[in-house]
Amino acid sequence: MQIIRKKSEMKDLRGIWAREGRVVGFVPTMGALHKGHITLVERSVAECDRTVVSIFVNPLQFGPKEDFGKYPRREKADCEMCEKAGADVVFIPTVEEMYPRGSGTVVEPHPALVSGMCGAKRPGHFRGVLTVVAKLFNIVQPNVAYFGQKDYQQCCVIEQMVLDLDFPVKLVFVPTVREPDGLAMSSRNEYLSKEERKKSVCLYKALKEAERMIVNEKEKEVSKIVERMKEIVQEAGGRIDYIEIVEPKSLRKVESIEESVVIGIAVFIGSTRLIDNIIVCPNRGEIFCDAL
Ligand code: AMP
Repeated sequence: MQIIRKKSEMKDLRGIWAREGRVVGFVPTMGALHKGHITLVERSVAECDRTVVSIFVNPLQFGPKEDFGKYPRREKADCEMCEKAGADVVFIPTVEEMYPRGSGTVVEPHPALVSGMCGAKRPGHFRGVLTVVAKLFNIVQPNVAYFGQKDYQQCCVIEQMVLDLDFPVKLVFVPTVREPDGLAMSSRNEYLSKEERKKSVCLYKALKEAERMIVNEKEKEVSKIVERMKEIVQEAGGRIDYIEIVEPKSLRKVESIEESVVIGIAVFIGSTRLIDNIIVCPNRGEIFCDAL
């Protein structure tokens, strides 16, 4: 496995692969890798001839009061995990390599897709995400790119960008990988103290209670479901950032549940902000992004 730090080297290697007719899979990450990331890498290795993983903590997608400075960085362990999973290249550019003149031209997300959930709570976040993903797509030129359902809204804005700007890449969305108690794996789980780690299961508990109400009780009223979810989070000592129930593609809020919906939740456990979501079909229960 090769570690590449320069854009020019990455592009040169991509040129060689193009001449050899290789199908290239790509997994963009911010590092501090866990089983969730590795599931994406393994999918790419299984489906493509070559797999590139990028590790880049992108300053553009962090707000001024967010955790850019303290975001966990551990290149060596990450590279070892990628190698074990069968990746061919780990691309690790510096901030200067990615933004040699600072940030200038940016990619704006479709406004309708960022008016709620993390888009509303983290202004500019998805602009940062799309700008770096567009740049990485241009550098790596993948045939296929892999993203996690864990960041559901991110999947939607990237899908829209690929459509609107004609990026020649196929997107694959992979279901969320969870800890045995249901907590979605996340690099940010490392911030949690032992006590907070116990509390953090409330996100998944609230989501599964919503599913139970929709499927078993045939509850359609979003306000009632959200109320119950709030109680679960607050009883556990979490501070709700948002709970939203939206249509899977448009991300428009729904008031009455008639078809499949995405239930998104963001909660502060202490000072750590965690997000999660599930997709629920009223007559089938939880379904995953690959079934949409
Ligand atoms: P990040 O390093 O947090 O930017 O994540 C990189 C990629 O891994 C994104 O596409 C995430 O959605 C995905 N990812 C993160 N956590 C998980 C998880 N628990 N299960 C599946 N995919 C994940």
